[in-house]
Amino acid sequence: MTDDPLRAALAAEPGEGEDSEEAVPTIAAALALPGCARPARHGAEAPATLNPPMPTRTARRGPSTARLQRENTHDEIYEKIYVAILEHRLHPGTKLVEERLAEIFGVSRARIREVLARLAHEQVVDIVPQRGAYVAKPTIEQALDVFEARRLIEPAVLRRLIENLTPEKLARLRAHAELEVDARRRDDKRAVIRLSGEFHSLAAELAGNTALARSMRELSVLTCLMIFLYDAPTSTSCRADEHAQIIDAIGKRDAPRAERLMLEHLEHIESSMKLETTAVEVDLEAIFRG
Ligand SMILES: [Zn+2]
Repeated sequence: MTDDPLRAALAAEPGEGEDSEEAVPTIAAALALPGCARPARHGAEAPATLNPPMPTRTARRGPSTARLQRENTHDEIYEKIYVAILEHRLHPGTKLVEERLAEIFGVSRARIREVLARLAHEQVVDIVPQRGAYVAKPTIEQALDVFEARRLIEPAVLRRLIENLTPEKLARLRAHAELEVDARRRDDKRAVIRLSGEFHSLAAELAGNTALARSMRELSVLTCLMIFLYDAPTSTSCRADEHAQIIDAIGKRDAPRAERLMLEHLEHIESSMKLETTAVEVDLEAIFRG
């Protein structure tokens, strides 16, 4: 147990239950976070991974011993906060206290501020003047906008991916889908949500258009936050077999089918959320205005 929820969220091991209060209250434990299979950020140094990388990125980079011994870099801290948000260990609306993060990661507040600014730029974090940084809480209107953007972008991503398809790219998609299957088998809901989002980012990365990939990555993480806020309690992000069907269509270079399956897939995700009826945030001002 720890009395510091922020530290607990950042220290949690992958696969811990949503309700788990167990956290190891040491900085060393906080650093022992999972690596992640997401593509490298456009224009940024490739994020380091402290654990063995997942198969989808094995061919691209591995952990270096020297790197493991260094203090947390900007990219490492960014990845840890990002993955904690993606896995719903840090909930929408959580205050990200600079001082505490600096202490947890053993770095200056200035470095934490830089990381928070980068997350804010990606809309993952809201910075409120005089109050600080919070994990973003997308509104229903923003959620609808995200789905509209995804419906436009993702068919284009698949078209481009099929044009540029190689056996290696197809193998990476399949390896990623296997990770998802494995996470579902273990009933690791956090990993399922993260890997589901990462499938879409990976497809965009493999399509080879950096602007599309960057947009897709941002839309994926916003979708993750939306799933937390608006998902029906029984559902989990992407449906179990739909990525595999999309990959099959990609493998057959059947662009019309891949695009259609993707649009249906997005429709399923959107319709599993309660975006019309549930007002999660109460607008007190509107209620009392008269
Ligand atoms: Zn999906």
